[in-house]
Amino acid sequence: MKMNTNTSTKKNHQDFGKNPQSIRRTDNYKAEYVHSFVEKWDELIDWDARASSEGEFFIEELRRRGARKILDVATGTGFHSIRLLKAGFEVVSADGSPEMLAKAFATGREHGFILRTVQADWRWLNRDVHGKFDAVICLGNSFTHLFNEHDRRKALAEFYAVLRHDGILVLDQRNYDIILDEGFKSKHTYYYCGENVRAEPEYVDEGLARFRYEFTDGSNFHLNMFPLRKDYTRRLMFEVGFQTIRTVGDFEETYHQADPDFFIHLAEKR
Ligand code: SAM
Repeated sequence: MKMNTNTSTKKNHQDFGKNPQSIRRTDNYKAEYVHSFVEKWDELIDWDARASSEGEFFIEELRRRGARKILDVATGTGFHSIRLLKAGFEVVSADGSPEMLAKAFATGREHGFILRTVQADWRWLNRDVHGKFDAVICLGNSFTHLFNEHDRRKALAEFYAVLRHDGILVLDQRNYDIILDEGFKSKHTYYYCGENVRAEPEYVDEGLARFRYEFTDGSNFHLNMFPLRKDYTRRLMFEVGFQTIRTVGDFEETYHQADPDFFIHLAEKR
């Protein structure tokens, strides 16, 4: 496995060019997670608050199935990898962004762990990650970064392949159906763990959800994402070969009242 803990050249400014709405590329995620965005996110998101709003859901689902070896394919700054290590699981932490992995590795050390990091793009996951896992987790609305169906199918097939015969994929996504169906007019604002980060859809169509993330110090960043419809994601998972898919709505992640802001898909191989 390739260890990668070096920070790439520290870029602090996002650059979406003259027409940000035209940026609809799977490969853009690395450029979007610039150093300052990554740093600010963790500075302001209280991990304890995030853990308590999420509860024991993932840990219980994994334990219930006897899962021990977990592959976190969207490690980000390391929140779930470190939570699962603390809960006693064996974790490999993968991500396509070296910036994210460097941050996760440093944070892991602060928590007393040496993260087993692997820089790997999902589309070629099995090239860089070896061995089989009881569970793959892809959390924090990460799958939304894939902009075309071919990439989504390829990534899901790679997740499927790295799982043991009775393995499970746990993948979450924002509830884009409500944003697309109720329209951009609704201008719903999402708050993360209190009011440290406001996330607002700035532009939405069937092929792009461009969100603005605003921090209490006035700084703001953007992410261009593909608005996955819930049933579409489920269909792709079935078509790639997952046999049973349970989708639950998460009512606790944010402060939205009526509909869940996130869906969690639990896709089983058998
Ligand atoms: N799971 C973390 C969390 O909940 O805090 C991070 C979520 S962050 C929204 C999405 C992560 O997915 C980023 O770290 C990004 O680098 C990673 N990512 C996006 N597209 C990827 C791809 N094609 N291959 C590998 N990683 C990817």
